[in-house]
Amino acid sequence: MLQVKNIFFSYQKTKVLKNISFSISSGENLSIIGESGSGKSTLLKLIYGEYDLDEGSIQWKNNSILGPSHNLVIGYPFMKYVAQEFDLMPYITVEENIGKYLSNFYPEEKQKRIKELIEVVELTEFAKTKVQYLSGGQKQRVALARAIALQPEIILLDEPFSHIDNFKKQSLRRNLFNYLKAHSITCIVATHDKNDVLSFSDKMIVLSKGKIIACEKPKTLYNNPKSPIIASFFGEFNVIEPYGILYAHQIQLVECSNLKATVKKSYYYGNYYLVEAILNNETVFFETSSSLKNNQEVCLKISKN
Ligand code: ADP
Ligand code: MG
Repeated sequence: MLQVKNIFFSYQKTKVLKNISFSISSGENLSIIGESGSGKSTLLKLIYGEYDLDEGSIQWKNNSILGPSHNLVIGYPFMKYVAQEFDLMPYITVEENIGKYLSNFYPEEKQKRIKELIEVVELTEFAKTKVQYLSGGQKQRVALARAIALQPEIILLDEPFSHIDNFKKQSLRRNLFNYLKAHSITCIVATHDKNDVLSFSDKMIVLSKGKIIACEKPKTLYNNPKSPIIASFFGEFNVIEPYGILYAHQIQLVECSNLKATVKKSYYYGNYYLVEAILNNETVFFETSSSLKNNQEVCLKISKN
């Protein structure tokens, strides 16, 4: 179990994290979300032992995670960290990078392991390519494979798919998170993408200005977003009194109702249109199956289901 207890941290004088506490069980997937600058990367680095805490403690099983003033070498063998800026060896191949820290003692086992990892990150055709010739997204995939190569007990991922295009992202995300679950590797992932969270995370932490404002199952937060920051992570939303926070899909078009709005613009989203309209002098967003005319008067119904 990872236990983070009442940690405080500042770079020079600015306080970045304030009284952060949470815990996760072995094999669980925890996501950390929050606006840029809210402290996600800093929290991961503290869990990795990259900085000394101002106050508080971090414990993994029976080990206290300590910063550089207590350790000559940063990090612990049971933990791997994939930074937003990954550092690989450019002049050796993808498979050499991934196998870098694997023992040469059992060469056949090593090759089998490298092959399996290359398949997880879908880079088989680039196995013999030198890393310097890869795109940013491909490099990120090598960094992910290298991090899981030594089967850590816990892995820290900082926006792991940020350089990877949508085309590859969907299957890579499934491969990676399913691999971690299947091997009971505890995972903490900082992300901006709800798709990293909804299907894969057991728990989700919302950071705002260095504090935890929510820590729940993703489904709980999705179904009942208590603040606009949480709702905005999941999708387009409105705040309409007395109903509170409503996602765009929770407002429907009806023949007749007391909620009359004037359409400003429809945006094509593939399987639906997102419509921007004015309701009681406020902008409102809802979804329709077909495009609406600008300035058209429409009636709306709210249904939270
Ligand atoms: P996030 O990952 O959520 O975008 P960060 O943890 O990177 O947020 O940053 C949190 C705050 O700490 C920001 O205000 C950022 O400017 C500041 N910060 C991050 N790294 C450093 C650093 N090495 N030195 C000083 N301030 C930093
Ligand atoms: Mg960051």
